[in-house]
Amino acid sequence: MTYLDNAATAPLLPAVRAAMEPWWGRPVNPASAHRDGQRAAAALERARAQVAALLGRPAQGVVFTSGATEANHHALYAWTQTVGRRVAAAAIEHPSIAGALERAEAQVVPLRVGGDGRIDTATLPDVDVVCTMAANHETGVLQALPASAVLHVDATQAVGKGGLNLAPAASVAISAHKLGGPAGIGALSLRDADAVPGWQRGGAHERGRRAGTPDVISAIGFGAACEAALDHGAARRVRWAAWSGRVEAAVLACGGRVAGIGAPRVPTHTCAVFPGLPGETLVQALDLRGIAVSSGAACASGSSEPSPVLVAMGDPDPGSAVRISLGPGTAEADIDALIAALPAVVAAVRAAVEG
Ligand code: PMP
Repeated sequence: MTYLDNAATAPLLPAVRAAMEPWWGRPVNPASAHRDGQRAAAALERARAQVAALLGRPAQGVVFTSGATEANHHALYAWTQTVGRRVAAAAIEHPSIAGALERAEAQVVPLRVGGDGRIDTATLPDVDVVCTMAANHETGVLQALPASAVLHVDATQAVGKGGLNLAPAASVAISAHKLGGPAGIGALSLRDADAVPGWQRGGAHERGRRAGTPDVISAIGFGAACEAALDHGAARRVRWAAWSGRVEAAVLACGGRVAGIGAPRVPTHTCAVFPGLPGETLVQALDLRGIAVSSGAACASGSSEPSPVLVAMGDPDPGSAVRISLGPGTAEADIDALIAALPAVVAAVRAAVEG
């Protein structure tokens, strides 16, 4: 299988697996006072430091969560409770932001989105909280992070990809499985560790900010994935940029175009638009040839709805997108396989649609 859907989830890296494996079957409750508990607590703190190092933010502000969805909910609930309910956010945010804002009963003030996929943060409305993603999940377009008093950043698709300065953010959400870590764990990074009230209430885990016994073994894997991203990030980015350039050229040669092509983007994402062809059909045709990509975001696939991101960008063909996304485990052979298959697949789908 040629796997080019890393924006949906990236397969577990061998180094991550190797870091997690020795812990299976051990008692790992970091709140236990005995030796096993202390060992678990030390491993959890090491993982916290690894996550913080990748983000370039303080370790004591890192709260482990079940993923970016929960981190977004925690942050936006906390900010709307403590700072105010008026939140500026764009329509191209991940659905977990819209969901979190709804749960928090926020008054959403929409931020404009340009045709290049960039959120207009130059002129901010008068709000209590600004919420901006660092890179879009469908197009990979990097966003300018405004210096606002309270800024929440969903950095899930951007971290480890370069071009990221999270200093303006009061809170940041990320998810391990986009980095080759395990699914089901993520983090909320708070600039001021004690600024927000806890989300889940109960036991005093995570310094009272998130009750529930932490998933220490997944946190160990998350930490290892962050360390790998720091250690190998520069080399990965060079490879990704070269390979995405080849993917882009192949898309253009087949009569497609690339959404957000004029804007700065993470080097992993290519949102290919083939006007007149249904994205879902292209995904299925590629799958039949052993190539995994997605039409828009994985959380929305299966639905034949046009991409809300492309709709917000004013793209005339929001139902014709195919997202090709590279990850830490991508090899050049994957790119070769895609480029070899793409012309025939596009031609076949075109013939079926036009015939
Ligand atoms: N935000 C963005 C930008 C994402 O791409 C995703 C995953 N698709 C999430 C949040 C949610 O991450 P998770 O499903 O791991 O909670």
